[in-house]
This record gives sequence, structure tokens and C-alpha cells, in this order.
Amino acid sequence: MEVLRAFGKEVTRISRALWYKDEEACVLCGREGGPICLTCTTDYLHPELGRCKGCGKLIVATKIHCLDCETGKGPKHLDQVTAWGHYTGELREFIRNIKFGAHPREVMKIARPFSDWAISQLPVVDGVVAVPMHAARLAERGYNQAEVICSALHWELGLPLLPGVERIEPTSSQVMLSRQERFRNLIGAFGVRQPEYLKGRSVWLVDDVTTTGATLEAVAKVLRESGVRSVYGLCLAAGLEKKLVPS
Ligand SMILES: [Zn+2]
Ligand SMILES: [Zn+2]
Repeated sequence: MEVLRAFGKEVTRISRALWYKDEEACVLCGREGGPICLTCTTDYLHPELGRCKGCGKLIVATKIHCLDCETGKGPKHLDQVTAWGHYTGELREFIRNIKFGAHPREVMKIARPFSDWAISQLPVVDGVVAVPMHAARLAERGYNQAEVICSALHWELGLPLLPGVERIEPTSSQVMLSRQERFRNLIGAFGVRQPEYLKGRSVWLVDDVTTTGATLEAVAKVLRESGVRSVYGLCLAAGLEKKLVPS
């Protein structure tokens, strides 16, 4: 009997250890201190810095706008753009795994911290809109990662998912293009099939990563043309071009 009780205790101890280990692992690096450990928070999320209220670039916490936005070179069709972290290191690996590694469910691991952060940065809106993917690309990948992120926001914050915007042109990869070319490449790429879902609303426009902001701008433009009142861009990460760590 004593042996059995000791055995039972041991089982409890091990399962608890396993459970807590699992609970505490950082989603990004796997070390202790999840969901996002202190090192990853410092390296990728930069809580010590502010985000430009226009384009989302990292700036000193005491400033409101970056130099670009102060001089009128900020987003044109968006009220504000913001990104949770920097597209680098473990965060980049995490996003690439969601996108190219066929692991869309991984998004749920960061759903809570990302949603909490988003609601602290942006005004409450009528709903979330995912940057759409062309049907051919969607058929290839099986899911749109931006829609998966929207589902996480919907789940955590109760924000409605707003449909109606689609990608008409299967634009080629933007990676090799200059900033100017990216904007040009996206002309006519998006359209709104059902403006009735969007007219008069305020939305968070969601994508996984933003670099030049060209894609967000192109979608925001058609949203505006469909009568959307306010558009706030929201991404998991911003590319290096946005890394304006104050010098
Ligand atoms: Zn970590
Ligand atoms: Zn700015």
C-alpha cells in the first residue's frame, strides 16, 4: 500500500513537472518563461521602445511620430500601422513555420500575448480583415496565414471577421522589387466583391509581415474606396526596413 502511494506521488510529480515545463516553454526559443521569454521579448518585441503612431516604426518611447511621418511620408490610406515584433531570428522562424511549414495552428500559441498587445496599441474596431491571398496561391498552401491570425484575434478579442476583399491578380513575389516597384506591382491586385460588409466600418487590416507597407496600402486603398471609415494595419512582425531603432 505504501509502495503504491509513493508510486502515485511520483506519477503526480512527473506529470506535473511535464505539464509545467510545457506551460512555461517559450513559444519562440523553447527555453523557460513562456509564452514569450524575457530574452525573446527583449530581442524581438522591444517593449522599451515606442511605435510610431503612423507607420509603426520603432522610435524612442517619448516620441509619437517618426521623422518620415512627421514630414508627410507616412501611410496614405491607413490611419496607423503597427507590428508586434521584428521579423528576425526566432520570431522570423516562427512565422516562416506558420507560413511555409504547414503549421497554421502554431498561431494559437501566441494568440493571447499578440491580441493583448494589439488591443493596447489600436482602437477597438468593428472587425478584422485579412490581407487576401489569390485563389491559386490559396489552393497551393491550403490556408491564408493572415486569415489564421484574424481567427486568433476573433477568438481572443471577439472581433468579427469581415469578408468581402479579394486578391484578383496573382502578383509575383515582391521580394526582389524596390519600394517603388512594389507599389506599382500591386496596382489593381485587390478588389472588394461585397462592399456591403465593409461600408462605414472601422477595421484592423491584418497580415503576417510588413516590409515596405506596400501590400497594406494597396488593400487599404480598395477598402477606403468601398467606404471603410478607418483602417489600422496590424502585423505579427515588421521587416528590417522598419527597424529604425533610434540612434
Ligand atoms: Zn524565448
Ligand atoms: Zn512613422
